[in-house]
Amino acid sequence: MFDLGRGTRCSTARPSTLRDLGERMNIHEYQAKELLGRYGVTVPRGKAVTSVDEAVEAARDLGSAVTVVKAQIHAGGRGKAGGVKLARSLDEVREHAGAILGATLVTHQTGPEGQLVRRLYVEEGCAIDRELYLGVVLDRETNRVTFMASTEGGTEIEEVAEATPEKIVKANVHPLTGLTGFQARQLAFALGLEGKAVGKAVRFMQGLYRAFVEHDASLAEINPLVLTADGDIIALDAKMNFDSNALYRQKALLEYRDLDEEDPAEIEASKHDLSYINLDGNIGCMVNGAGLAMATMDIIKHFGGEPANFLDVGGGATAERVAAAFRIITGDPKVKGIFVNIFGGIMKCDVIAEGVVAAAREVGLTVPLAVRLEGTNVDLGKTILAESGLTIIAAEDMADGARKIIEAVG
Ligand code: GDP
Ligand code: MN
Repeated sequence: MFDLGRGTRCSTARPSTLRDLGERMNIHEYQAKELLGRYGVTVPRGKAVTSVDEAVEAARDLGSAVTVVKAQIHAGGRGKAGGVKLARSLDEVREHAGAILGATLVTHQTGPEGQLVRRLYVEEGCAIDRELYLGVVLDRETNRVTFMASTEGGTEIEEVAEATPEKIVKANVHPLTGLTGFQARQLAFALGLEGKAVGKAVRFMQGLYRAFVEHDASLAEINPLVLTADGDIIALDAKMNFDSNALYRQKALLEYRDLDEEDPAEIEASKHDLSYINLDGNIGCMVNGAGLAMATMDIIKHFGGEPANFLDVGGGATAERVAAAFRIITGDPKVKGIFVNIFGGIMKCDVIAEGVVAAAREVGLTVPLAVRLEGTNVDLGKTILAESGLTIIAAEDMADGARKIIEAVG
């Protein structure tokens, strides 16, 4: 059985595979820098704060000629949205901190509703000579940790990949050797580095690799990686994601979790041991088993609908869990119809039917509900649904249910 990551947000267009569902835990820039700094990755000095006064005090302590005030949210693109500001005096720090803190930033990664800024990172500024890009991902084609380097830093790497893919140089890392000096030097040369900067970049990349592997990271992105006027190599920005299936052995990372940044529905779901991921469509799905949940999303899409979520109530779902799942689905304003697709194996269909009926009564049904039951005690289950007095669209099979709910939603 697959265990999908909890507390994750996903807005992919076609979530038909586990890969697209992003089983990941996100952390803030300041946390990623703290973690990377322990591995010899060079980062600017800085301090995370939650008030304007603290921001000014942090800037005074840093004592640098230029201070950078940065919004800490779990989304990139802050610079363009006004979430990264340079200050040349403490008055300017106060001004920028006041403007960014408490603001709602809308970036290409936050969605139109934006993200409230509750924390700032106050950092010493640096004299940028060149902005480069360095990314580390787990490449599922080669099953290897893969470095990506590009001279086109500062801009989104997706745009570079689209317009000028030849400007991205990759290196696959063998797990036994780790990132070799040879590979790191090749990447450094591809970044156009020379002289002492090459050795600095090599140490930077090898530290980054160790931090990545030792924490079960799924993504590390340094954009921009900066070559300073003094010839130093510095991570000006840092984004890290971790495989949430590995959190059982990465307990220290849980300290970095910021519930304010996570989807409330996903947090609620994780409390009830439900695997739930919020998606963009309007058909709420309640399914048991990750495989069946995937297939359900696929069949909804096949018939022209859009799933509003992935939800696996699990094999041993109780009536309470079914009710919790129902509350989460009906609490989502974009849901215009619900499709319950359950295979009763260990769980018997009559128990599931009772759970569905109780939950529907409790939370009240304002949108069409289609139910497809199959398996043990299926006839009894169908009788319970039919006699419940609720308007439930009975489905013969999965395809029938998908078609009927799409039609009901209109
Ligand atoms: P993002 O927009 O969320 O990716 O935030 P970044 O941390 O990447 O910052 C955006 C941009 O702000 C960078 O690409 C830099 O151009 C600029 N920036 C950030 N820190 C500094 C700094 O210390 N000095 C200067 N001059 N620019 C900076
Ligand atoms: Mn960036």
